[in-house]
Amino acid sequence: MFENPVIRKVLDKYLDIWAIGYATSLLGWDTETYMPEHAIKERSIVFGRLTVLAQRLMLSNEFRELVEKAEKEENLNVYEQGVVRVLKREIEIFEKLPPEFVEEFEKLTAEAKVVWRNAKEKSDFNLFKPYLEKIVEMSRKKAEYLGYEEHPYDALLDLFEEGLRTREVEDMFQKLKPKLTDLLKKIRDSPYYQEKHPLENVAYDVEKMKQLNLEILKLFGFPFDRGRLDISAHPFTQNMGIFDVRITTRYEGKDFKRTLLATVHEFGHALYELQIDERLMATPLASGVSLGVHESQSRFWENIIGRSKIFIETNYDLFKKYLPFLSNYDIEEVYRYFNLVRPELIRVEANEVTYNQHIILRFEIEKSLIEEKIVVSELPEIWNTYMDRYLGVTPPNDALGVLQDIHWSMGAIGYFPTYSIGTVLAVQIARKLEKDLGPLEELVANKEYDKIKSWLKEKIHKWGRTFPPKQLIERALGESMNTNYFIEHIIKKYGKLYNI
Ligand SMILES: [Zn+2]
Repeated sequence: MFENPVIRKVLDKYLDIWAIGYATSLLGWDTETYMPEHAIKERSIVFGRLTVLAQRLMLSNEFRELVEKAEKEENLNVYEQGVVRVLKREIEIFEKLPPEFVEEFEKLTAEAKVVWRNAKEKSDFNLFKPYLEKIVEMSRKKAEYLGYEEHPYDALLDLFEEGLRTREVEDMFQKLKPKLTDLLKKIRDSPYYQEKHPLENVAYDVEKMKQLNLEILKLFGFPFDRGRLDISAHPFTQNMGIFDVRITTRYEGKDFKRTLLATVHEFGHALYELQIDERLMATPLASGVSLGVHESQSRFWENIIGRSKIFIETNYDLFKKYLPFLSNYDIEEVYRYFNLVRPELIRVEANEVTYNQHIILRFEIEKSLIEEKIVVSELPEIWNTYMDRYLGVTPPNDALGVLQDIHWSMGAIGYFPTYSIGTVLAVQIARKLEKDLGPLEELVANKEYDKIKSWLKEKIHKWGRTFPPKQLIERALGESMNTNYFIEHIIKKYGKLYNI
């Protein structure tokens, strides 16, 4: 796989950086799960120092020269070319941003996160406003430092989704917007429309629910000798290397689909990391290629498998074993509960039909901020206007509106569109898989999860970061991202469910 002697030298040097990343990941997982509260005082110093150390190694003359030398080598195979591409990109990003700027941005966002939490609790946007103003200003500056060809927002997008352009995101949303608005309206006018489902209020036994989540992971073949399931405030997946990938979920005590689907979602993220070619271990290629592609994997398992009728049907008895109250609800009812469509205020609680609307409004706001067409002080009002326009609801306060997400306080402007890319790609991937393997309905009915997993591994997972995201998708699917599959999917599925 890695034959070229210069590449081998690069990889050997890279091991120091990789080891720091591994340790940082494990610390990150611990911070969110088992760390005692006051440990954060020292922990944040460790995070800061380890990051700087990795950066220093990456930017050392020795390492840079080695990567430059590798770039000039001829006849590199695709993996070796991948190593050069990934490292060159990382070095370039570090190089373009002055260290004082990086430090200032880190400090600002560390404070902003605390301020945002407080502002959200008090539902007071004015507390967060000066920080967000500074974050937007610095994000514009960041885009200038990084450089772009078409739009400053491209530079920010690229940090999360290599090669993604603003016009591509605009194009995707232009296609989705009218269809989604129309479908939501029809659903709300349908006699089957319900604002709430009784199962949302039924309490479950947390210990039993934990067992059920483990049973589902076992059913999917999650390798417990290479990972764990724990609890955290916000479910996440953390990969140390490809032999240690951990997921978390949370237990609200009622509304069981939330913990179940969160577990299934994180399983999708974990599976991607777990199925990377073992020969890529401890190299720059040994992780998922981008946030959008990663999210396509979690959404595939959550939306396409987890929310399907056949999944509920084949596991109905298993669900009932741990959740005896389900005896009062038949399969059709549970299916309706899993796929309840309503215009909710909170993005993370959104369903398949409304999810992208939440992203569209964030994207439009971010883009206008970067273009200096709007100012931060106008955001609460703009937010509420957009919510009404796209979803037909108005947040009663800023906590349930403009202050709901952590991303801006972290300085992550340009991140949100990757959620929509994942949601759209998941359906496209499912259709291609069905072309190759036959209907997913049959595969799920026969519990042939190995077949599904092998296909995902072969097409997407095993490559890690070898190819840039767009190229990986084109190789896997024979075409680039196409919103039609997603639109067809929701019109068909929800048309049937709501009789429209
Ligand atoms: Zn996710």
